[in-house]
Amino acid sequence: MTANTDIRFLKGVGEKRAEVLKSKGIDTVGALLRFYPRKYLDWTKVTTVRNAPFYENVCVKARIVTPIETVETRRGITIYKFLAEDTSGRFAVSLFNQVYLAKRLNFGSEYLFYGKFDGSFVMKQMNSPLIKEVGFCGIEPIYPESRNMSSKAIQKFVKTALESVDMPEVLPEDIRCENGLCDIKYALNNIHFPKTKESFERAKKRLVFEELFCLQVALTVIKLKTHRQSGCVIENDVLEEFLNCIPFTLTNAQIRVAKECIADMQSGKPMSRLVQGDVGSGKTVVAAALCFTCAKNGYQSALMAPTEILAEQHYKTFLKITENTGVKCGLLTGSMTKKQKDTVKNQLQNGEIDVIIGTHALIVNDVEFKNLGLVITDEQHRFGAAQRGKLENKGLNPHKLVMSATPIPQTLSYILFGDLDISVIDEYPKGRQKIDTYSVDSSYRTRIYNYMKKFLNEGRQGYIVCPLVSENEELDIKSAKEYYENLVKGEFSKFSLGLLHGKMSPKEKDAVMRKFANGEIQLLIATTVIEVGIDVPNAVIMVIENAERFGLSQLHQLRGRIGRGEFKSDCILISDSESEDTKKRLNIIKNSSNGFEIADLDLALRGPGDFLGNRQSGIPQMKIADLFADKQVLLEAKKQAEQLLKKDPQLKLAENADLRQEVIELYRKLK
Ligand code: ADP
Ligand code: MG
Repeated sequence: MTANTDIRFLKGVGEKRAEVLKSKGIDTVGALLRFYPRKYLDWTKVTTVRNAPFYENVCVKARIVTPIETVETRRGITIYKFLAEDTSGRFAVSLFNQVYLAKRLNFGSEYLFYGKFDGSFVMKQMNSPLIKEVGFCGIEPIYPESRNMSSKAIQKFVKTALESVDMPEVLPEDIRCENGLCDIKYALNNIHFPKTKESFERAKKRLVFEELFCLQVALTVIKLKTHRQSGCVIENDVLEEFLNCIPFTLTNAQIRVAKECIADMQSGKPMSRLVQGDVGSGKTVVAAALCFTCAKNGYQSALMAPTEILAEQHYKTFLKITENTGVKCGLLTGSMTKKQKDTVKNQLQNGEIDVIIGTHALIVNDVEFKNLGLVITDEQHRFGAAQRGKLENKGLNPHKLVMSATPIPQTLSYILFGDLDISVIDEYPKGRQKIDTYSVDSSYRTRIYNYMKKFLNEGRQGYIVCPLVSENEELDIKSAKEYYENLVKGEFSKFSLGLLHGKMSPKEKDAVMRKFANGEIQLLIATTVIEVGIDVPNAVIMVIENAERFGLSQLHQLRGRIGRGEFKSDCILISDSESEDTKKRLNIIKNSSNGFEIADLDLALRGPGDFLGNRQSGIPQMKIADLFADKQVLLEAKKQAEQLLKKDPQLKLAENADLRQEVIELYRKLK
């Protein structure tokens, strides 16, 4: 029997139970051993009745000191009651309908009881404890149960499996030694049936490392594959020339990141890099620097944005920068006329246009380039990798750059983008106005409206982010409409208002955003659709209703829409929630303006599953590693993976054969 043996051949399993196991994703004996317990019951630490805390799982050793009394309730439940005691004290036990257990117990005998105490200080009480014979001493694994398979049954199969197969050792020996990790046999034995807390910890440490290590090896293999291709070589570094074209001084971080990218493009290999930078950190200029560099070296570049309005915004920025430099920029979006599009497409094909900025209109089949050297995608999480790939295929291994403002914590970036190199713009342009953030309850609403009117009267603009009333988008939009209409008829009847929500067509959305950008709309009422990218420096105030319903990173992204110009800006969070947790969360937003810090705290509060919601499904499901808690291990695993692949890039060495197998499987899942 090997790790790959079909689960139905494991002793005691058979066809029927094999089906159940397979429905849990357990196809093979190896997969069963990789099905780790959900939690453990610790029978090794026995406390006394007197010292045992209330409401926590404890184990006590006690003697049954009264005969077992049977009580039938009117609802037809049978309760078995008795008292038990150790030398420190006495407690009452009730068992509900557990006839077999009750029959096994003897008045006068001693047992181990595992459960939670409640009751009073006069008499502690334990309901439906687990009970074992004295002498049992172990940590018992509990597996995710289902109606047709109990944890006990899985436990039994795992025991059999541990005895019948030797699992392959995927970790190279020197890496195990260097990191003080136990071998696979010990790890599996002790993750399922730990002898002690310490042996469990050793096993877990190794399995966490192994999981992250294999993933990093797989991602690095993908990355190296890109690096083995040859890319177009940028001969001339024209960064100095570029710096003279822009009206401000780049921050050190912007210069560092631009240089990292240019070095990539000079290397002869295609660049494959992620630039992360908080909202307002100035990613667009870095993109412009690279496009400028390519143009001056005779290559075309393409910048793809997720919405028309963003594409237009970038286009305007680029036009300003490239004025009088001989670099020609173009725009291509879906709403342009056919004639306009055809002109641009021609210019792309014959090489007249150096830099094209657009939406997904760029990936359409008949868009052809003369010599595309660089592909940049902005706010990348809006695009699938497939779309990105389509644009990249329009050139010969063009350099690729992904820009993201989603402040994914570094830990997660290594997982999500392990196949990309990462640069971080961790500095804001000088002279950026600080945003003051306040958190208030709804009794302040009228005062807030008056405060807003003051700014609108001074010629500034503002946003109100609508309440989320439910999980249901339809209802939210209905409430946004009502909210908007109430303001139009009431408080803000003297001002020009606009409404923006997710069910509007891209065209309608763009029309509203355009009006807001050129000042025709003073106050924009919006759902979360304004989250990404948009740059209206005249907007100085934002009110967010029902702030407790938003994720922290989302609040931060929303807030990033203001404070982008010369005016001081205010963000006001309205929430009537009394919950301590909410207060804690809103305080984080109040006190921090750093997206990465907020994202890290957000992740710690919510766990990685919720963090990205269902928006980002690219995260591989982890079996045992916790991306937040195991951050250090992840960094170490990444380092070791890179070292190993330097020595054995194809994993051809005999000693790496088992690892190779594992990585091939992962590679399939990731691709
Ligand atoms: P983001 O990183 O959020 O995409 P942008 O690239 O849109 O940020 O830049 C935000 C604003 O800051 C823009 O108006 C841009 O012109 C300006 N900006 C960028 N870099 C600098 C700088 N070094 N000094 C001053 N202003 C800058
Ligand atoms: Mg941007």
